[in-house]
Amino acid sequence: MALLPPGSTIGILGGGQLGRMLAVAAAQFGYKVHIYAPDAESVAAEVTAHHSQAAWDDEPRLAAFAAACDVVTYEFENVPVDTVRFLSGHVAVRPGAAGLKIAQDRLEEKNFVAGLGGRPAPFAAVPDRAALDAALGEIGAPAILKTVRMGYDGKGQARIMTPADADTAWETIGRHAAVLEGFVTFAHEFSVILVRGIDGEVRFWDSPVNVHEGGILATSSLPPPQIVADQQGEARALMAKIAEELDYVGVLTGEFFATKDGPVFNEMAPRVHNSGHWTIEGAVASQFENHIRAVAGLPLGSPATRALPVAMRNLIGAGIADIPALLADENCHVHHYSKTEVREGRKLGHATWVGASPA
Ligand code: AMP
Repeated sequence: MALLPPGSTIGILGGGQLGRMLAVAAAQFGYKVHIYAPDAESVAAEVTAHHSQAAWDDEPRLAAFAAACDVVTYEFENVPVDTVRFLSGHVAVRPGAAGLKIAQDRLEEKNFVAGLGGRPAPFAAVPDRAALDAALGEIGAPAILKTVRMGYDGKGQARIMTPADADTAWETIGRHAAVLEGFVTFAHEFSVILVRGIDGEVRFWDSPVNVHEGGILATSSLPPPQIVADQQGEARALMAKIAEELDYVGVLTGEFFATKDGPVFNEMAPRVHNSGHWTIEGAVASQFENHIRAVAGLPLGSPATRALPVAMRNLIGAGIADIPALLADENCHVHHYSKTEVREGRKLGHATWVGASPA
């Protein structure tokens, strides 16, 4: 495919901080960005030339958006698959609908990954309340009940410590179709972030160790503990297989548990990922830059880590008030997403240290 010339327009579905950071990377190559999202607030559209605020199923608006873009990508994994399919009839969408469809359905995702030789946590389908008892009989407790759809940042999840918790858990997740997962005893969590070009070339960033608090990513750091370094290769091989199977173009992320028996696949995101924010300052080419390069058909940049150690800390809810103190730390790179509403659990910014530790 021909390289996308400067001055071309890249469309992004979704208007959050990932779109904002992708738009900044696109600007580096002389591209214009058009954000399409239904929400009134778009922190991505604040930094782009064009913005359509319209519903995911508004076909006339989608067609006009497609006509205004040279290529379209997405920053949000809950964009309806039908939206991407509709757009694909008008303009190239990278990555395509295949990975999006799988990532939106926890059950399909686990079956797909297991089919490729990956190892998810033990799981059972829970289409209704009665199936939960059967699943608990099969998987045992402790376990985690997760909605099949629309889960992220620990939302749509409930822990089941004993079978007596089943009713409460079923109510907590809103009685939606779910998956019961066995509780994984892990030493650490880590992610594999790769980029795949239009020609099929795959490159990986170094895997950070990720710490979650309340189901939300709190920190990502490098170098990771030895057990993660030891398991990175096997996890990478699985993610490369997934990317190939989907004929994926762009950045793809897999989250894993490092266990004494090897890497256990947790979930994947068909997009740039919070655990890769450190790559903006910490890698030669960031995940945002390489995603834009991939969807634009440019040669990929080097994902090599610039210097160790690397630390990324999310600024969540009231944590955004730490910015003045972080700015006083001369080794800290501060990112504020420009969201107006401060809510508990909402990601509002992040801070990164490269070749240095927090003061
Ligand atoms: P998820 O949204 O599925 O990534 O889950 C959010 C967080 O909950 C994960 O990053 C883990 O810290 C924890 N978690 C999820 N599933 C499991 C599991 N099967 N066993 C142990 N911890 C889990």
